[in-house]
Amino acid sequence: MTITSVDQYRAKPDDQIKLIEWDPNDKSAFPAGKSQGKKALKPLTARLEALQEVMWAEQKHKLLVVVQGMDTAGKDGTIRHVFTGVNPQGVRVASFKVPTPIELGHDYLWRVHQKTPGLGEIVIFNRSHYEDVLVVRVHDLVPEERWSKRYEHINAFEKLLADEGTTILKFFLHIDLDEQKGRLQARLDDPSKHWKFNVGDLKERALWQDYMAAYEDVLNKTSTDHAPWFIVPANRKWLRNLIISTVIVETLEGLAMNFPEPQDDLDEVVIN
Ligand code: ADP
Repeated sequence: MTITSVDQYRAKPDDQIKLIEWDPNDKSAFPAGKSQGKKALKPLTARLEALQEVMWAEQKHKLLVVVQGMDTAGKDGTIRHVFTGVNPQGVRVASFKVPTPIELGHDYLWRVHQKTPGLGEIVIFNRSHYEDVLVVRVHDLVPEERWSKRYEHINAFEKLLADEGTTILKFFLHIDLDEQKGRLQARLDDPSKHWKFNVGDLKERALWQDYMAAYEDVLNKTSTDHAPWFIVPANRKWLRNLIISTVIVETLEGLAMNFPEPQDDLDEVVIN
């Protein structure tokens, strides 16, 4: 069983997205439920592994996957599950934290550009340049006059990457306040998850509506044909993984990649 069209999750450039209208519990794409959903992920994981091998061998394409979401939305879990089995040679994760003084001394895209994929590579951004119009906006880290110009910069930056051969996919992991409460409580209740619990996350949680407004602007201003956003209903982890895997596999299939031709006529090679 496969998932029905994932295109329904793509933020179209002309949409007027209001996140309240996007249900984080929506499972219409895969009504069969969790155990079937987990089963359906397996062939996709295998397919992704095979596609990445060709991509790395061919050294012709580059894939950038941006993962954004509120705390506990599942950024780490998505990366772990969706990319299970891929060859670490050719796949990198770049995590963007609070900028260092040196990073702050440059423009905000400086640290980001350095981490973009080279030929044959898949790079996953765990947080990204979008923090510069999310946390930066919500906390007034720079004046509005500065952050409001960044959507335009970001679109131009992503266009540059796309024009130079990078395929870009961006995923917003959409959970709701209740789901976050449950996940935070689970971290609190389980000592093995305490390392993930950050009291500062509660401060961000109190600013939920401000973040949703900032995300809506991101989704409305920066979802383009060459760098689309997908709004992933992420309250159900298995469905989140299934949707994201499907989008990535379908996108890589669309690149029509092939193993490179051997340099010599191997039929004539004799190994003594
Ligand atoms: P995680 O991504 O797992 O939550 P951390 O707990 O270390 O990792 O959080 C990283 C923090 O860095 C987040 O609070 C995020 O908002 C912040 N951050 C990332 N980029 C920026 C930025 N450009 N400016 C300010 N803060 C940022």
